[in-house]
Amino acid sequence: MAILKAVRGTRDLLPPETVLWNHVEATARAVFGRYGFGEIRTPIFEDTSLFARGVGEETDIVSKEMYTWEDRARADSDSAQSLTLRPENTAGVVRAYIEHKLADTGMLQKLFYIGPQFRRERPQRGRYRQFWQIGAEVLGPAWSGADSALRDAEVLEMLSTFLTELGVKGWKLEVNSVGSSTDRPRYVAALRDALAPVRARMTADNQRRAETNPLRVLDSKAPEDQEIIDGLPKIADFLDDASRDHFAQVLAALDACGVAYTVNPRLVRGLDYYTRTTFEFTVPDGSGLGTQNALLGGGRYDGLSEMLGGPKAPGIGFAIGEDRLILTLQAQANAATEPKLDAFVAPMGLAQNAAALVLAKELRAAGLAVEVGDGSFRLKKSFEAADKLARRMVIVGEDETSSGILTVKDFSAGEQTKVPRAELADFLRR
Ligand code: AMP
Repeated sequence: MAILKAVRGTRDLLPPETVLWNHVEATARAVFGRYGFGEIRTPIFEDTSLFARGVGEETDIVSKEMYTWEDRARADSDSAQSLTLRPENTAGVVRAYIEHKLADTGMLQKLFYIGPQFRRERPQRGRYRQFWQIGAEVLGPAWSGADSALRDAEVLEMLSTFLTELGVKGWKLEVNSVGSSTDRPRYVAALRDALAPVRARMTADNQRRAETNPLRVLDSKAPEDQEIIDGLPKIADFLDDASRDHFAQVLAALDACGVAYTVNPRLVRGLDYYTRTTFEFTVPDGSGLGTQNALLGGGRYDGLSEMLGGPKAPGIGFAIGEDRLILTLQAQANAATEPKLDAFVAPMGLAQNAAALVLAKELRAAGLAVEVGDGSFRLKKSFEAADKLARRMVIVGEDETSSGILTVKDFSAGEQTKVPRAELADFLRR
């Protein structure tokens, strides 16, 4: 029989690597909590039209990469529903914001999420078909200050604190403004005009983008096209006064907080909903990501709620590629080393199994991490297993059980000590 494997582009995460995943997620929860964010969990699949409307029909995500299926017609309705595995989480959060009338709370909403996303992309290092994002959104009615440049700067400062706290080295922040919903169409029109006479000289990919979504041409890394792209109009020249002013305030607040950045006029990002501030954090080549050096991205989406039929609710958010963050931490070798258990309890003979389990139960209740061997193991095998898993081994034999004095072998010190049972937990904690 053929051996079944995880589907291409998906993978299993196993211990001890999951220790690092948990550490990253715990750090995110702790840092975001300090900035007043609460957790939201939205469904993994949604109505397809949420993404078609929210992310944009012309984006690569919606046009090529979604896992979509017709769900069988329900008994109470005669039509099948088109469902999609979420390719990103912002649309789902904004849907929930509208559905639960969070605007009525009158409060600014600060929500974060951690979970898998799905895109049918060509798998490669740092790019998967099921990948994890840690993200957050700040949104609310305009009078809650959700559109203030202060929020953009706060989110960026929080991200810089998060990456620094995790120990990510050499990260860089790139920012840009893509203007308001009226600036953008004017810019796209200018791009189309500028691309028309040169398009035929570009690579096939960019010829197609020039036609369907000219902003995406700016994302292109194709070396042959760089000269043409460098000569294209810049969005900065198309911003209205309000957008220009907003962007200047964001940069001034970043300066005040001491968050370093570079302005990248080509940073327009692939999703349709962005307005004003867009940003990306990258790590240097050689950080384990191959050509995928974007660790996270995000931006402002002042019109998204209305695009989804909700009230006006300006917002800003980001999504961190957790898989990429983990690869970076591993490559930069500040990954947590494989943790060892506090003790391995080794019963000497099957008759001691129950006594060993009772001792392990006591030690675990005292807060220690403990594994139990098995009385069928020879002493040598117990030693080998214990040495792999734990810092110390506790021997449970007939003598130990009757005398209440246990023999503890310390692997790093290479010593053997007799410890009274009542003092064992304290001894193992040291
Ligand atoms: P996006 O939602 O496209 O703005 O992506 C935000 C972040 O998610 C990116 O900067 C990546 O770090 C990560 N990401 C996006 N697509 C993938 C993928 N297919 N595999 C792994 N990480 C991804």
